Amino acid sequence: QGLGGLSFYRSTMNQAAIRRHHHLEALRRALNGQSLKVHYQPQIDFGGKRLAGLEVLARCQDPELGFIPPDVFIPLAEESGLIGQLDQLVMEQALAQLALWRNQGFAIPLVAVNLSAVDFRQPGLLERIKKSLAAHRLDGCSLTLEITESLLIESNEDILATMTALRQLGIGLSIDDFGTGYSSLSYLKRFPVTELKMDRSFIRDIDTDPNDKNLTAAVIQLAGSFQLKVVAEGVENQAQCDIVTGLGCDLIQGYHFARPMAAADLESWMTGQGAA
Ligand code: C2E
Ligand code: CA
Ligand code: CA
Ligand code: CA
Repeated sequence: QGLGGLSFYRSTMNQAAIRRHHHLEALRRALNGQSLKVHYQPQIDFGGKRLAGLEVLARCQDPELGFIPPDVFIPLAEESGLIGQLDQLVMEQALAQLALWRNQGFAIPLVAVNLSAVDFRQPGLLERIKKSLAAHRLDGCSLTLEITESLLIESNEDILATMTALRQLGIGLSIDDFGTGYSSLSYLKRFPVTELKMDRSFIRDIDTDPNDKNLTAAVIQLAGSFQLKVVAEGVENQAQCDIVTGLGCDLIQGYHFARPMAAADLESWMTGQGAA
């Protein structure tokens, strides 16, 4: 394209680099200040018709750049070595809030916190989690960790040992985005997981695409044989809800019931649901 084309290409490259730089600065501001917030999304136990837990989702509202979506700042935090700090802050906030809510009389069985695979490879994870739980006088059953399949194909002895120790504390281990990653399921035998979280890409068209429905049915069967719970995420309407509950899915999460909400909004929601 000649020199003009080249300089255009370079300038768009620079724009991407500059944006990344600004996002990284915003992320650092969030971690050092107060702007890293968390939202909570209810998980519903459909059989028991009750609140089963809350997924905790990080939110970054930067004073300069405005709202930055997790799909932007989480990968950035992973690449830049800040994810450990971020996940720790999120867990701290969530456990403190859970303890407070319970003192106020809200019946919330657990919070489910997302952990990056990077966290698991860092030493001291177990001790940090133990400390956070103890600081808020919570038992391990009050916490579930959502991890991704990528962690489990490493078949690393340290990861297995950490997971086993977490389980001994009563902490739940959920495989997030289940079905999107790897075809080998042998890790289900090897790692002490407690829950499979069906990826929302399988739920989206479940009312129209028989393949998605069959696959979800197969996962629920598989989970049953390993005594694992199944969560369907991304349930947005009644048709999807009817299908996944009909297939025997234990827990449901999605806009159909509730969006992720700030603590104050969640309190109103719970009061409306009679959870207090
Ligand atoms: P995820 O763990 O799979 O979280 C579920 C995502 O689906 C959330 O997006 C949630 O807002 C969205 N969602 C929930 N219900 C529905 C629904 O009915 N329909 C649709 N279309 N979407 C729904 P969000 O909050 O943007 O988070 C994106 C991803 O960022 C998360 O995916 C997770 O992988 C990551 N993430 C968020 N917070 C944290 C965190 O504190 N630590 C780490 N390591 N990762 C996080
Ligand atoms: Ca998750
Ligand atoms: Ca997910
Ligand atoms: Ca995800």
